[in-house]
Amino acid sequence: MEQQKALTRLHDITREASLVASVISGLSWDQETYMPSGAIDWRAEQTSYLTGLLHEKVVNPDIAGLLAALGVSPENPLGDPSLPARERGYLRVVQRRYLRETKLPASLVTELAKVQSLGQAAWVEARTKNDFPAFMPFLERILELDREAAKCYGYSKSPYDALIEDYEVGATEAQIKEIFAPMEAGIVDLVGRIEAKGKRANPCEGKKWPAAQQEAFSRRVMVDMGYDLARGRLDITAHPFTTNLGSDDVRITTRYLEDNVLSALFSTVHEAGHALYEQGFDPEIRNDWLADGASMGVHESQSRFWENVVARSLPFWRRYYPELQGLFPSQLSGVGVEDFHRAANIVERSPIRVEADEVTYGLHIILRFKLESALLSGDLAVADLPAAWAAESQRLLGFKPKNDAQGCLQDVHWSMGLVGYFPSYALGNLYCAQFLNAMEKEIGSVETLVGKGEFGAILSWLRKNVHHFGKEKLPSEIVLQATGEPLSSHYFLGNLERKYTELYGL
Ligand code: ZN
Repeated sequence: MEQQKALTRLHDITREASLVASVISGLSWDQETYMPSGAIDWRAEQTSYLTGLLHEKVVNPDIAGLLAALGVSPENPLGDPSLPARERGYLRVVQRRYLRETKLPASLVTELAKVQSLGQAAWVEARTKNDFPAFMPFLERILELDREAAKCYGYSKSPYDALIEDYEVGATEAQIKEIFAPMEAGIVDLVGRIEAKGKRANPCEGKKWPAAQQEAFSRRVMVDMGYDLARGRLDITAHPFTTNLGSDDVRITTRYLEDNVLSALFSTVHEAGHALYEQGFDPEIRNDWLADGASMGVHESQSRFWENVVARSLPFWRRYYPELQGLFPSQLSGVGVEDFHRAANIVERSPIRVEADEVTYGLHIILRFKLESALLSGDLAVADLPAAWAAESQRLLGFKPKNDAQGCLQDVHWSMGLVGYFPSYALGNLYCAQFLNAMEKEIGSVETLVGKGEFGAILSWLRKNVHHFGKEKLPSEIVLQATGEPLSSHYFLGNLERKYTELYGL
């Protein structure tokens, strides 16, 4: 009975923190969608204030006593073995976050939130004007604070290890290097063989694709996937994202490029994949600390699954192409479905990460991983970032960016202090490939299901093996339980090899 009381009290505290966190999400969603630009300073204060309040909730000193009463300690993070598995997973999450956040002084938390909010607004302007020097002081300050945070968290090898923990629990810089090395070699080899086949003509190039029809098509697909619009919405931002204002309010954004018919669709499908994860948490864990992705990498596996496995497949286009042709009759006249499908899978080294194909995408991540680690350790000065970016881009992608907007200013992450986040994108591809392999053993060919429009069977597998748990299990436990093996790059490279051998006749 005493234990039940302690558990109830702990849930009260963590749910209150979730309330504050979701209000912050609402404000930052508004900042990126509809907030007038003049409101930025007050918004930065609002966000900073609420982040301070959230920090207070998370480091509530009562938490330590309640965890102890439930048998939780650093040696026994799951607490009393007689408790249900879900509650034990919850206790592990609470202890990890509590121990981590009590290491940060409140002044650092509020300062970081303020600088992130201002930094993000400065980044938007710098990117639009292609003005890296204007963004430099913000990035310098953000990195200083990130370094300070890493020092507070503590680390044995590199400050990067202290920060990556927020995105991929248990991962280290050394491990990421180890996973990325064969991935880089495999991708470079495959891209080389694809390029040797010569440049592929794109029948969609040089045409105009009005946004209204693109939106109609994207909405149709995202609803077919199972995205619940009664518990979400779609808006437009410079950088597409998914955010959670509560378990019944999971919003996504996209952007329409009138010279590219596929960009918005793939962005929308990608974000809807993230949103399906968040909408799919077990009802029992909603709006509390387990209502979160197991890690950013696992989160990314869900978006990649729908984007790359489902929406870039030939059966998908056999099903949806007539509808797209109906929306763009003149642009697509004379373009057959197989040509269109090939156009959706063109492999080409290109400057912008979010527009990259699924093969070269990993190279963009390796570039960022290397540079952000050097920025954080201080080996690379912010002023030297554009040159270092150009050099790495030359090495991995074979060209230098035309300008900084196309180079080191293209992503929002660093302006928000998110150093250590990028590897999750590549890990997502690896998880995705491994999940696909395991899923097909259970429910048969995914392409056959996609061709029949039976997305429900796919979603059910993901719900049962991934979504349902939220943060109850560690990423390593989820992948082991769902696939029977620890994470490796083997399936990812194997799947790419199979797919592109066929597409390019390698
Ligand atoms: Zn994503």
